[in-house]
Amino acid sequence: MADEAGVSTPFLVDGVWLGTRMGATVLRVVDGRIERAEVPAARVPRRRITILPGVVDRHVHLGLVDGTRLAGGPVVEVHDLGWIPEVAVGWRAHPPAGVTVRVAGPFHTAPGGYPSGRPWAPDAAVRGVADTADAFAAVRAAKDRGVDAVKIALHTGLPLLGDDVLRALVDAAHRAGLPALVHAEGPGQAARAIDAGADVLVHAPWSERLPDDVLARGRHMTWISTLAIHDRHDRSTAIDNVRRFRSSGGRVVYGTDMGNGPTPVGPNEAEIRALHQAGLDGDELITAVVGAVGASIPLDRALVSPLPLPGSGEELVTWLSTARRFDTVYPQDAP
Ligand SMILES: [Zn+2]
Repeated sequence: MADEAGVSTPFLVDGVWLGTRMGATVLRVVDGRIERAEVPAARVPRRRITILPGVVDRHVHLGLVDGTRLAGGPVVEVHDLGWIPEVAVGWRAHPPAGVTVRVAGPFHTAPGGYPSGRPWAPDAAVRGVADTADAFAAVRAAKDRGVDAVKIALHTGLPLLGDDVLRALVDAAHRAGLPALVHAEGPGQAARAIDAGADVLVHAPWSERLPDDVLARGRHMTWISTLAIHDRHDRSTAIDNVRRFRSSGGRVVYGTDMGNGPTPVGPNEAEIRALHQAGLDGDELITAVVGAVGASIPLDRALVSPLPLPGSGEELVTWLSTARRFDTVYPQDAP
């Protein structure tokens, strides 16, 4: 029960993730966040649960799924990586209940470049960029529309941005205070994104085995996994790249490309298993799936399960399949 100051009665749980795995811990809710309470465990009621922060999916397409199905589920934050910017910022303003939405868009690409003409991509979701001056104008327009990141597409099957325009887009994004996120597909395109200074590859590279020197040049980057969208051959190429990227110091985070094919609208079990196959386990796997978390968890992002805290990918899949939102199970703790 929350008192007037927004502080709940302390309670003991079997385990909790507060940036790191903790066993039996006394917690309480303070100003909408779950945190440790310095209270002897013997004096407080015990809840036979464990707590994890909710899932953050860093690569979704809300324009291609029924996002309302995410409401109140285990996914608490999604990043829409490509739609009509005016529509996408509307999703951010009016998200599915209990879900935070961030948006990157439109696709900045060469005139006629990917994903121009794809049946799933509305014309207004694609911004053809003619030259370096146009690159700065395009990023300014995206910034003015309020996007959270700049999306750039390189795909060898269609016209490609030149190195100068690619670099201008990345530089313009950084000057606008936004990260540059690149879809890199086809031989040499991941290396071009890396050498242009991009921050994120929105798919772990799958269309070629990246040489070690390219991985080393790009170890400052974050890769979004999206391993489960690929067939067996491409998936094993991507998993091999992820393994070597991680050992060179790179960071890999969970993202599913939700909306690309028959992906689940919720936690993607195949994606979690593929991350485990790529060598992510225990604390590293949880961090990849729930994001960086400090010493407290926002109440409206916390999940509970009767199961022990997960270690392996399979345990995490099972844990999430039993998870419910903390604030629906314990509404009395919400201030
Ligand atoms: Zn995508």
